[in-house]
Amino acid sequence: MGQAESCLFCRLAAGRIPSETLYEDDRVKAFKDINPGAPVHFLVIPREHIASVRDLAEHDADLLGHIFDVINAQAKKVGLVPGGYRIVVNYGPDAGQSVPHLHFHVLGGRSLAWPPG
Ligand code: AMP
Ligand code: ZN
Repeated sequence: MGQAESCLFCRLAAGRIPSETLYEDDRVKAFKDINPGAPVHFLVIPREHIASVRDLAEHDADLLGHIFDVINAQAKKVGLVPGGYRIVVNYGPDAGQSVPHLHFHVLGGRSLAWPPG
């Protein structure tokens, strides 16, 4: 079974698992987190299967630039500017990464404590 069938976010990117999509194009998808940790909590993922932030390479620079463009545009669209927002990428068990497909959390809509737990 390939990643396209076995990976939750590959399946979601392909539309085989439903999601509340905020934005999508040929490279990325932004959608609401199913278990929000703040009044606004969405995820941005590459369509391509990249397992974690540690699997990024130099040639992913354009993709990463695009991901940050999408994050900033959507954050503004849903009202997080100028209030602010937090972008989080978890890697590995200590950080609590639970889905092994790279995803950027975007949280806002309330004052966020720092440092996180
Ligand atoms: P992480 O713990 O950093 O790997 O984050 C995974 C995130 O994916 C969690 O915040 C989950 O609530 C979220 N999540 C898991 N399944 C879905 C889904 N089907 N649709 C939207 N968000 C999901
Ligand atoms: Zn995947």
